[in-house]
Amino acid sequence: MGGGPAGLYFSISAKLRDAGHEIVVIERDPPEATYGWGVVYWNDLLDILHRNDPESARAVSAHSVLWQDQEIRVHGSRHDGTAYFGGYGYSLGRAALLDILTRRARSLGVDVRHETLADPADLPDADLIVACDGAGSRIRQSRAEHFGTRIETGRNPYIWLGTDRQFDSFVFDFEETPAGWIWFHAYPSFQGISTCIVECSPQTWHGLGLDTLDSEDAVPLLEKIFHRALDGHSLISRSRGEPAKWQRFQHISNRTWVDGNVVLAGDAAHTTHFTLGSGTRLAMIDAMVLAHALAEFPDPQVALREYDQHRRAELHGTQAGARSSMAWFERLDDYLDRDPVSFAYAMSVRQGHQSPWRYQVHLATQIPAVRRARRAYDTGKRWYRDRRRGEAPLPLLGRSLPGRK
Ligand SMILES: Cc1cc2nc3c(=O)[nH]c(=O)nc-3n(C[C@H](O)[C@H](O)[C@H](O)COP(=O)(O)OP(=O)(O)OC[C@H]3O[C@@H](n4cnc5c(N)ncnc54)[C@H](O)[C@@H]3O)c2cc1C
Repeated sequence: MGGGPAGLYFSISAKLRDAGHEIVVIERDPPEATYGWGVVYWNDLLDILHRNDPESARAVSAHSVLWQDQEIRVHGSRHDGTAYFGGYGYSLGRAALLDILTRRARSLGVDVRHETLADPADLPDADLIVACDGAGSRIRQSRAEHFGTRIETGRNPYIWLGTDRQFDSFVFDFEETPAGWIWFHAYPSFQGISTCIVECSPQTWHGLGLDTLDSEDAVPLLEKIFHRALDGHSLISRSRGEPAKWQRFQHISNRTWVDGNVVLAGDAAHTTHFTLGSGTRLAMIDAMVLAHALAEFPDPQVALREYDQHRRAELHGTQAGARSSMAWFERLDDYLDRDPVSFAYAMSVRQGHQSPWRYQVHLATQIPAVRRARRAYDTGKRWYRDRRRGEAPLPLLGRSLPGRK
């Protein structure tokens, strides 16, 4: 139930392990009508996907774009400057990902049915129902007591937008306004388009009047606030015909993911705050682990128990880190009086991972020559991993953009 990354990747992973399975994916939306823009991921996911299904992994890789470095730009009355993190990652349009997975699932004989609503009160007569219907899962809600669902709603409003400003790094931009701080997280997603998630505290949101404006009417105001950061480019609200809406993040956890022959996977089972950029990755790994357990254990109930216990335990640390990250962005005012380099350092350790040399490495990363050396090293590392997977290295989108230090 649900044709997002978890549902589609489960169908692929299960079919690859046993072509005799009859699998139907029920998706309420029409093809290519998904919410959101791009999602980021890191090299380790490509390795994992490649081991599970090289064919879809190659397609994912071919449709992805590479970004290098993270820039933390602070524009306030006390401080105005940029700090840097090193490293690199990838991004892929959500619609492209779903298209790749749908094609691959169909080529393996999976019956993917769009524009069909799964009704928790009338679930089909199947050996197994995998509830992959996302964070707002109606199947989970209809059995919330059994699953022991816990939902904590984040404080900060956010909106998931696109922009025609093509970034080539992952950029965090913090702007001070008379009503308080507002910021975006932006990264390239596909040719000519970047994802731009705007977030602020409830006080800033009310103070700027964003609570009284239609989300589409808010776009010109946000473009004005982020004029410099967007280099005069536009923000785009509509990703599937409907304007994006302001939301508050829902942190979801469950005591168990199994109820009889119904099992939760992906966002239906757990969410991780978007500042971690890992929900899609975790949803696809859930799908793979579940398919693997079903192939490994002849008794499906044993397989479900194994999946429930081990995968859920594996995610405790990540979910705790995601909560810390969400909470850190909710207390941002406590940190924004620091200079950009100190502020960025506090941001980099927001999940609590500190080591004695981390601060020294952070200080070194602020030196352009060190960043160039790190990029060269990363390029070599990436080249080696791409070759090991038998792929051509991905070019960097916007490599020729001016102003890159
Ligand atoms: C602002 C934001 C930014 C994010 N950025 C990233 C990122 O950079 N990297 C990353 O890895 N993750 C990111 N995520 C998280 C990621 O989007 C999710 O974790 C991921 O999509 C979960 O996949 P899923 O298949 O479990 O659920 P979903 O992708 O939500 O898919 C659920 C599917 O079920 C369908 N559905 C729902 N109800 C029904 C029903 N009753 N009948 C039939 N179909 C139904 C929906 O239409 C949908 O297609 C971000 C999330 C947000 C909110």
